[in-house]
Amino acid sequence: MSAAPRSFRRLIGHVDGDAFYVNAERIRQPFLRDKPVGVISNQGYFVIAKSNEMKRLGITTGEPLPDALQKCPEGIYVKRDFRWYEVVSRKMLDCLRQLSPCVEYYSIDELFFVVPEGAQPQSFAEEVRARLWADVHLPVTVGIARSRTLAKLLGDTIKPFGAKALLSLEEERAILATRSITDITGISHRRARRLEPYGLKTCLDLAQAPPRLIRGLLTVVGLRLWHELNGEAVEPVRPQRPRHKILSRGGSIGQASTRVGRVWAFVVRNLERFVEELEFYAVRPGRVDLVLRFQDDQAASAGCRLETPTARFDLLLDYFRVCFVRCWQPGRPVNGMHLIGTDLHQPGSYPRGLFDPPDEPARTVSLVKRQINERLGRFLLRSGATLPLDDVYRDDALNYDACDIRGKFCF
Ligand SMILES: [Mg+2]
Repeated sequence: MSAAPRSFRRLIGHVDGDAFYVNAERIRQPFLRDKPVGVISNQGYFVIAKSNEMKRLGITTGEPLPDALQKCPEGIYVKRDFRWYEVVSRKMLDCLRQLSPCVEYYSIDELFFVVPEGAQPQSFAEEVRARLWADVHLPVTVGIARSRTLAKLLGDTIKPFGAKALLSLEEERAILATRSITDITGISHRRARRLEPYGLKTCLDLAQAPPRLIRGLLTVVGLRLWHELNGEAVEPVRPQRPRHKILSRGGSIGQASTRVGRVWAFVVRNLERFVEELEFYAVRPGRVDLVLRFQDDQAASAGCRLETPTARFDLLLDYFRVCFVRCWQPGRPVNGMHLIGTDLHQPGSYPRGLFDPPDEPARTVSLVKRQINERLGRFLLRSGATLPLDDVYRDDALNYDACDIRGKFCF
């Protein structure tokens, strides 16, 4: 069979793990195959992934566990384990790197790749799927098209265990006509509402709209998507993640709390994780912000500019304490938070202030703490302020999150 037509020479592929958490569990527990399996969130409140058997019974992602149990009492519900999902994710990455010269680690279960020159696209899509099944025992869906946006949209239409290359304009248009604009990564419902008055609802509507209109409504970001939908690969496959412009840690705290000691303990826990990130990437924030999320979906935030950029726990703790006092609202239940660092500097790239406290002995203390934790357990040595969270630290599944998997582009 001949290679791709001339205009389709440079093609991009997208690999997406099918029901990834469920199938990762099935790799280490083969008896789970063909059984209804649900993976539940860290505190055990919600189903965060479900097998096709469960999907057929009407169970949706994000459904509370008691509702899922009613629909599927015979289901097997397992707790999420990101340490294991990272192992599977990296196996997937290693396997694909043997097949393609350029692979992007997009998310825990999604990879983009460049189709090697000379490969027949449809057989290559099938080969990628077959190799991941043979080497990793993971079912995936593979889409190949002229741009990453087209490849990902294609993948969404052929799940699960699909493998397809889009090789004609007619096929591209047929797929685009079936997809809503909000199926495109980067188009939120808020953005889609701006397009509605112009009758733009499907991806095909967007691709056929005048580019000037799209630029006016969705800025240059929308214009890039317009090019991608029309088969011009303006978004490259990125084998290396560029330097972070922002680092953050946080998330849900499980059951909402009005207890100041418990919520502050979560701030300190997240600060310890935040400092780990700063040390790993060898950067110092010039500004920090704290966002507290309340149970009623409202949030409060406060930020500080640092006198001198730092990654020191004790100094950052003082800044976050100031932010916390400004965000805290007595009696209002908090259910999540984010600690955010921006204006990131490399050590030595900024002048030290005349009145900055000396780095020693704080640096020695942090080094000893890091070495002990690396050897004996991530949170073995931790701040006394986190003592109200004994229940959290006792549960090992809570001590490693999707965001702890480094090198990928998105959460
Ligand atoms: Mg997936």
